[in-house]
Amino acid sequence: ALTTGIVGLPNVGKSTLFNAITQAGAESANYPFCTIDPNVGIVEVPDPRLDTLTKMVVPDKTVPTAFEFTDIAGIVEGASKGEGLGNQFLSHIRQVDAISHVVRCFSDDNVTHVSGSVNPIRDIQVINLELILADMESVEKRIGKVEKMARQKDKDALFEYEILTKLREAFENEMPARSVEFTNEQEKLVDGMHLLTQKPVLYVANVGEDEITDVDANDYVQQVREFAKEENSEVIVISAKIEEEIAELEGAEKQEFLDDLGIEESGLDQLIKAAYNLLGLETFFTAGKQEVRAWTIRQGTRAPQAAGVIHTDFERGFIRAEIVSYKDLTDNGSMNAAKEAGKVRLEGKEYVMKDGDVVHFRFNV
Ligand code: GDP
Repeated sequence: ALTTGIVGLPNVGKSTLFNAITQAGAESANYPFCTIDPNVGIVEVPDPRLDTLTKMVVPDKTVPTAFEFTDIAGIVEGASKGEGLGNQFLSHIRQVDAISHVVRCFSDDNVTHVSGSVNPIRDIQVINLELILADMESVEKRIGKVEKMARQKDKDALFEYEILTKLREAFENEMPARSVEFTNEQEKLVDGMHLLTQKPVLYVANVGEDEITDVDANDYVQQVREFAKEENSEVIVISAKIEEEIAELEGAEKQEFLDDLGIEESGLDQLIKAAYNLLGLETFFTAGKQEVRAWTIRQGTRAPQAAGVIHTDFERGFIRAEIVSYKDLTDNGSMNAAKEAGKVRLEGKEYVMKDGDVVHFRFNV
């Protein structure tokens, strides 16, 4: 399953956030495909469309879709040189598909900062630099291998050499691989290199409990936003402390707490949605009397593979999918009405799923 790794310097609030994630507690029984590992937290994806479908169908139960966050043990400066837990840290990052980078934006004299003062941009750069140095090593190794062939005008080697030197130049300027512009063809080769700084990132600015109602007043947050804008990354502002409290609440109680704070959506819910998008995921629904349920697929998945997410038999025996968009279904008020209006389509093996499709799969057993 695709996962987002939570990284950050020591004492920035990673464990506090991860606690909130595990406490918000998706019932793992519902998600047998999820990893059972103390460093993995399963989160349910909040989706108001699921509530609307539930009101319409009145099923026995409703199951949101879920995905995983992975807690990655603390980085130390010098990770790329293999110091301390450094190597392990880098190999864990290699295994995740996207990165949530937690940055300390709260001031609290009781919580020591590893570098002695709060400075989110310096903190971001410490970690980014370790990742860049690790990537630099991979790229230089590869350059050593293709350089000679490239000089001999070997076409493939030249193609790769051009990409590698472009990357090396970016790294020399302390820029991540994701900031480099490539053609689609080049991009394919770069993806195959599994560079750490090619992974999509979102920054999680952790502010103090009393700042969450007016995050714009926090200068550190502004700094992180400016920095993130430069590399086209998103910023989510949370207070990890408060998220821990919110995570213990549900339904009306949770809403009341949020209303009291004067915020619309918990930071964790915002983070979950942003990470879901960052991973390139989307949702389709099944809506039967027994169960209304949201399912996760990668953008661009075809109908049989989407069926396979529910059950491998569904994919193997796939015949057709009966599909109506969420909007057409809810505009018409019921499945039957949508059918009468001609909004329910029969789609075959080549159909590329769209976010919000409500599906009934037909298959042979
Ligand atoms: P980690 O080392 O990044 O996992 O950081 P922790 O989650 O263990 O947090 C380090 C310390 O900072 C703990 O004492 C937390 O209680 C505290 N902390 C985390 N988030 C906040 C916050 O939003 N406000 C305040 N005041 N303290 C926080």
